[in-house]
Amino acid sequence: AGLPYIVGNWKMNGTRAMLNEVRAIDRAAGRFPRIQVGVAPPATLIYRAREAAEIIGVGGQDCHTRDNGAFTGDISAPMLKDAGADFTIVGHSERRTYHKESDADVQAKAQAALGAGLGVIVCVGETEAQRDAGTAEAVVGAQVAASCPALEEAPEKFTVAYEPIWAIGTGRVPSLGDVEAMHRAIRATLVDLYGESGQGVRILYGGSVNAENASDLLSVPEVGGALVGGASLSAESFLAIVGAA
Ligand code: 13P
Repeated sequence: AGLPYIVGNWKMNGTRAMLNEVRAIDRAAGRFPRIQVGVAPPATLIYRAREAAEIIGVGGQDCHTRDNGAFTGDISAPMLKDAGADFTIVGHSERRTYHKESDADVQAKAQAALGAGLGVIVCVGETEAQRDAGTAEAVVGAQVAASCPALEEAPEKFTVAYEPIWAIGTGRVPSLGDVEAMHRAIRATLVDLYGESGQGVRILYGGSVNAENASDLLSVPEVGGALVGGASLSAESFLAIVGAA
């Protein structure tokens, strides 16, 4: 299902000084032609990052469901595209938690992103309580069904990221067996939703991916790449993960 895809999500980190990291990542990405690399800096840096980089994709971290209007502080998918973005993340657990985004919101955002010609990474993942209760696969399956684009066929520019909430920024990672089981469950849901075209959708793992655990995680069946937070903030640690893919 496509090249391995390694994406850095900078979250609310980074000023212009960080463009040096973008340049370093971009230069090194040329050595890994069989890996697709993306960086999602804060929106304020998208235009500059796109100018600074030649090879890697540059992305947003969210977009609005509408193309424009009276939505103070929000940024639309066509605006991201206009700023030079190639893709956007939607439905990150931090958006779902702090901005109360529902599956329906995330689905509408994903469709807005695709409509603007952007690639889209839809994030899903269970809480620790849901994992402990044994409902993780059911919860994530329902999230995938309700927050991925409502289309007959899976678009080429559509990616899913599985990020267990309890693994984000904690240094904790599910067992490789649990990662495999969840990715297989997500694949089955994608095939239910999109038929055969659901086989082609890349499913990224995210949550405390670092240079040490990346090669193990990336060798799990159905793991098509990684969505990296903290370890994407320096070119050195991010490139170690790219090199492990
Ligand atoms: P960390 O890699 O910092 O755990 O963050 C994961 C994440 O949320 C990426 O979107």
